[in-house]
Amino acid sequence: MIEIRVHGRGGQGGVTLAKLIATTRFLQGDSVQAFGLYAAERSGAPVQAFCRYDAEPIENRNLIYEPDHVVVLDSTLIGPAVAGGLKPGGWIVLNTPQPPDSLRESFPAHRLATVDATAIALANGLGTRAVPIVNTALAGAVGRVLGFELGHVRAAVEHLGFAGGNLAAADQAYEATRLLDSVAAEGAAGPAAAAAPPARSPSFITGAGGGWPTIRTGQWASQQPARQQMVPPCNHVCPAGNDVQGFLQALARDQTDEALAILLRVSPFPGVCGRVCPAPCMDSCNRIDLDGAVNVRELERFAADHGTVALVPGAERGERVAIVGSGPAGLTAAYHLALFGYRVTVLEGGLETGGLLRTGIPGYRLPDAVVDREIGRITDLGVELVTGAPVDRARLLDLARAHDAVLVATGLQELRGLEMVTAGSETVLQGIDFLERVHRGAAGLENETVVVVGGGNTAVDAARSALRVGAERAIIVYRRSPAEMPAIREEIEQALEEGVELETLTLPVAIRESAGTGARCVLTCRWMELGEPDASGRRRPLEIAGSDFELPCDRVILALGQSPDLSVFPEGTEIREGERLLGMIETPVFAVGDLATHDGTVASAIGSGRRSALHIHETLSGELLGGGEHAAARRHVDVWRDEVVRPEAMKLHLFERARRSEGGVLDPWERTWNFAEVHRGLDDASEARRCLSCGVCNECDACVTFCPEGVLKRVGEEFVFDYSFCKGCAVCASECPRNVIFMSHM
Ligand SMILES: Cc1cc2nc3c(=O)[nH]c(=O)nc-3n(C[C@H](O)[C@H](O)[C@H](O)COP(=O)(O)OP(=O)(O)OC[C@H]3O[C@@H](n4cnc5c(N)ncnc54)[C@H](O)[C@@H]3O)c2cc1C
Ligand code: SF4
Ligand code: SF4
Repeated sequence: MIEIRVHGRGGQGGVTLAKLIATTRFLQGDSVQAFGLYAAERSGAPVQAFCRYDAEPIENRNLIYEPDHVVVLDSTLIGPAVAGGLKPGGWIVLNTPQPPDSLRESFPAHRLATVDATAIALANGLGTRAVPIVNTALAGAVGRVLGFELGHVRAAVEHLGFAGGNLAAADQAYEATRLLDSVAAEGAAGPAAAAAPPARSPSFITGAGGGWPTIRTGQWASQQPARQQMVPPCNHVCPAGNDVQGFLQALARDQTDEALAILLRVSPFPGVCGRVCPAPCMDSCNRIDLDGAVNVRELERFAADHGTVALVPGAERGERVAIVGSGPAGLTAAYHLALFGYRVTVLEGGLETGGLLRTGIPGYRLPDAVVDREIGRITDLGVELVTGAPVDRARLLDLARAHDAVLVATGLQELRGLEMVTAGSETVLQGIDFLERVHRGAAGLENETVVVVGGGNTAVDAARSALRVGAERAIIVYRRSPAEMPAIREEIEQALEEGVELETLTLPVAIRESAGTGARCVLTCRWMELGEPDASGRRRPLEIAGSDFELPCDRVILALGQSPDLSVFPEGTEIREGERLLGMIETPVFAVGDLATHDGTVASAIGSGRRSALHIHETLSGELLGGGEHAAARRHVDVWRDEVVRPEAMKLHLFERARRSEGGVLDPWERTWNFAEVHRGLDDASEARRCLSCGVCNECDACVTFCPEGVLKRVGEEFVFDYSFCKGCAVCASECPRNVIFMSHM
C-alpha cells in the first residue's frame, strides 16, 4: 500500500489533489482512499489531505501518520515539519521554483522533486496570484515522480470534471518536474519507476463476485446516501390537486408565467381559489412549526392575476361530451376535456355561467371580472356554453343518446327550510335566493334588522351582504358555539369587524308577524348548551328548557344548507362520484362536483371536475393516464416515495425565520357600504421564498457544498454521487434541509 500526505493551505485544493492521485490509481484498478483533515480552518490556514492506494482491498481506516511520500502545495510551508513521520527514502514533492539539490540539506533522508506549480497554474489561468490553484499541476508532478503514465493522470483530471487549463497544467508539470533521486542518508528506496504500481484491466475493476468491497475507498461505509422525493403536505391536501410546492418554487424564481402554467395544468380557476379557497394547504403547511404557514392562497391569486399563459386545445377528436351545469365542477371538466380535444357543450339552466361563483359568493370576495377572465379561458378552448337551458329527466336521456358521454354537475339545488316558518315569503328569504338578488342589484334592505339563521359561508355572506344593501343590523343566529361554525374563519372575523352580530348557542323556535309599528316580525329563540359529540364529531346542541326569548326583526334569512335535486335522474338513482348513472343506456353518465361529493368548496368541485374528465377520457379512449401531472417534479431522484413529508422529517432549524406577507385588506369602514373587493392582494411574490419545498429538491446545493469529500456533484440537472469515494459520513443527508437525501444501509 502506498500512503501520501498532502500539505497545503485552505482553498488551494489539497483534498482535490489527494483525490486526483487516488483517481489516477483507481482508474487503473487499485483500491483507494482520499480524505481531508478538517477542523475549523479558514481559507489560507495550513491543512492536510491524505491518499492511499493499493492493489488489494484497503481495510485500514486510520489517519496516515507515516506516509510513503509527501506533497507540499505552498512554498511557505516548506520546512522540516513536512517530513514528520515520512518513511526514509520517500519522495517529497515541493511546489517551488528552486532546483531540488538546493533543498538537499533540509531533507537529507528523502528523495526530492520540485516543480514551479504556481507559475504553471497562473500561466494556465488557474486561480489568482493570491490563491493559485495548483492541484492539477501537482497531480502531473506526482505522476511523474511515482512513475504513473501521463495518460493515466490526464484520465483522472478529466474524470473529476476538469479540462482546459487543468489538463495543460498537468501536462506541463509532468514534463517540468525536476527529480533528485538519491538520499544523503542510508536507506534510500529504489528508483522512481520501481514504485509504479501495476495497471489492472477495467474488467477486474468492476470485479462482480470477486470479493471486492462495494466501495474502493475501503470498508468504512456501512451506509450510503441516495435521493428521494416525497409528497409535500400542501400538495397532498389540496382538494383541487394543485402542485402547490411546484408553483411556489416557480414564483420564488420570479417565474410568474411558469407558476400559472403549473396551476393551469390542474385547475382553470386559480384566480377564484386564490380568493375564496379555505386553503387546507395552509393548515397543513410545515412552515407553521417555524413561523407560520406560507400564504399559499394569496400567492395563487398573485400567479393568476399577474401571469400569462397561452393554452392550446388538444388535437380535435370526434367524440362529443355534454355537461349539465356551469359551476366550477362542470366548467373544470369542460376545460380538461377541451384540452384533450373533445367537443364539449355546457348546458346551464340559469342565465349566467359560473354557478355559485357568480350567484352565491358575493363580489366583495370574488369580483365578476375574475370569474369572467377564468371562464373566458375555457371558452377560448372552443367549449360551447349555452345558458337558459335547464335539463330535466327527458332532456338528460336525449343528451345521453346524442353524445358520447354526459356529466351532470348541477350542484345542490334543494334548500332546507325551518318547519316553524309561517311568515310571508318576503319576510323569510332563502340565503341563496337573497344573494342571487344582491348579485342582480335587486335586494334593498334599508334600515332593516335582519336575522340570518345558520353558521356556514352562506350565512356569513348573507349577513355581510345585508349590511352592504342598507340593513341597520345583521344578526347571525347559530345553534352551536362559534368554534363549530363551518364558515371560513377569516370570513367570520371580517364579518364581526364590519359590525355583524353573532348570537351563538341560540335556536329559533317560532316566528310570528308583529302587529305593532316597530319590527315586522318576532323570532322566538331558545338558549342551547353543548352535550356529548354527535356522529359529526361536533358536540351536540341541547335545548335549555325555559330559556326562550324574543328577537324582533324585519327579515329572516335562512342559510341552513342545501341538498341535491335528484329529479333529473331516474327514480331511485344513487349518486356517487366516478360511478356510471343511467345504467340502461350505454353512454357513460357521471355525476360531478357538489352533487356527487357534497363537499361544498370550490377547490373540491374543481378536483371532482378534473377527475371526471380524466375518467371520461380513459373510458372513451382506453388510454390509462395514471395521474402523472406532477411527474415533471419527480426528476433526478433515485426513489419516488408516495409518503407525505411531516415537519419532524424537515430540518426546520436550518431555515431562517421570516415574517409572512399578508396582502392588503380594506378597512371595515371602507367596505360596508359597497361591494369593492376586500382583499387587495400581494404587491409581489417574495412570500413564495418562504416555501420550504418540503420533500422536493429545489437545487439549493447544500449537499454539494457540505460534502467533505466532494463525492456529490451536479452534472447538468442531475446530482451524481461518486460512490467509489463516499465514506457514508451522512453529512449530505444531515445538511439537506428538506429530507431529499437519505442514508440506506449497504
Ligand atoms: C354563499 C356561498 C358562499 C360560498 N363560499 C365559498 C367559499 O368561500 N369558498 C369555497 O370554496 N366554496 C364556497 N362555497 C361553495 C361553492 O360555491 C360550491 O361548493 C361550488 O360552487 C360547487 O360547485 P358545483 O359546480 O358543484 O355546483 P354549483 O356551483 O352549484 O353549480 C351548479 C350549476 O348547475 C346549474 N344547474 C342546476 N340544475 C340544473 C339543471 N337541471 N339544468 C341545467 N343547469 C342546472 C346551476 O344553475 C349552477 O349554475 C360557497 C357557497 C355559497 C352558496
Ligand atoms: S386550491 Fe386551495 S388548497 Fe389548493 S392550493 Fe389553492 S388555496 Fe391551497
Ligand atoms: S413550506 Fe411550501 S412545500 Fe412545505 S408545506 Fe408549506 S407551502 Fe408546502
